[in-house]
Amino acid sequence: MTHIKLFIPGPVEVSEKTMRAFSRPMIGHRSKDFQALYADIHPKLQQIFYTRQPVFVSTSSAWGVMEGAIRNLVSKKVLNCMSGAFSDKWFDVAKKCGKAAEPLQVAWGQPITPEAIEAKLATGEFDAITVIHNETSTGTMNPLFDIAQVMKKFPDVQFIVDCVSSFSAMKIPFDELGIDLMLAGTQKALALPSGSALFTVSEKANAKAATIKDRGYYFDVLEFKKGQETNMTPTTPSISHFYALQSKLEDIFAEGLDARYARHLENAKLTRAWVKERGFKLFPKEGYESVTLTCVANTRNIDIPKLNGVLKTKHSCVIDGGYGKIKGTSFRISHMGDESTENIRQLLGWIDEALAEI
Ligand SMILES: *Cc1c(COP(=O)(O)O)cnc(C)c1O
Repeated sequence: MTHIKLFIPGPVEVSEKTMRAFSRPMIGHRSKDFQALYADIHPKLQQIFYTRQPVFVSTSSAWGVMEGAIRNLVSKKVLNCMSGAFSDKWFDVAKKCGKAAEPLQVAWGQPITPEAIEAKLATGEFDAITVIHNETSTGTMNPLFDIAQVMKKFPDVQFIVDCVSSFSAMKIPFDELGIDLMLAGTQKALALPSGSALFTVSEKANAKAATIKDRGYYFDVLEFKKGQETNMTPTTPSISHFYALQSKLEDIFAEGLDARYARHLENAKLTRAWVKERGFKLFPKEGYESVTLTCVANTRNIDIPKLNGVLKTKHSCVIDGGYGKIKGTSFRISHMGDESTENIRQLLGWIDEALAEI
């Protein structure tokens, strides 16, 4: 089977080293070996979350934790900041969990402003807010640091942040920003196989969860906390993901966090410049472009499936043809994970060749 290299915004390409770790033999999840494995990765995860709080690994995709955050932390009403496919869906999920929820909707590609959040929260109606840092469907990055400043005025509101596609690609200091629950996916910038998610929870969020009776079991943050105290998980986890994480953390600290962040930014800058030079436009509002992927407005009206066909046949790789209602009118190039600047430069060259051909 030919290996098609993925330049889509998740899952991304997984290295052979990571895959070798992922396919190690099983160990008992109640064994000392498993405890040693969790104990080994835990302080490194805390370092990337910039937190002293325990960090948990959930055997679910990111949506499991996104739903869990709602079930654990909302009793009054949640404000869902909506600016793309993932953040829009979080509102639907909140309602499916039976919670009172209100949208704060902006057009896709526009950022969520701290002012708009402040105006909503000032009503006193809300006890939680959901924010997606990097809206992957539109390649738009919300001003999380400015939003965090506003959130400090509302200490009774749980600040729930999805960093699914930005985690480990830039510094997001959980403790300093005063976030209450932050989650990350494994198949995005971490470049691990899909099927697992990481999260951490503040003291304030733990206290809130303790007051909520119907928070369920599988995503109960207090169950995760109790487990972590002895380097355990509430249920049998994807042990393969723990091994893959161990291997990936080795890579991350060998490269150095700052170098990793700089590489992601460099890849983004390179791709954005290419977009403009080729007569396309960036989909997000200027100044709010993602560092992990570039969403391109298809202003030249190119046939993206055809482009991908050429990339696939000639170079065994694909980019993404756009998500949801902007499929086709936009396309996305992922430059997160292990991709070097040389790799991205090479990919852009291949796209140029393909564009000349179609
Ligand atoms: C990919 C993604 C998700 C969903 O992740 P799953 O692994 O499919 O559950 C949620 N939020 C953002 C921002 C994403 O990029």
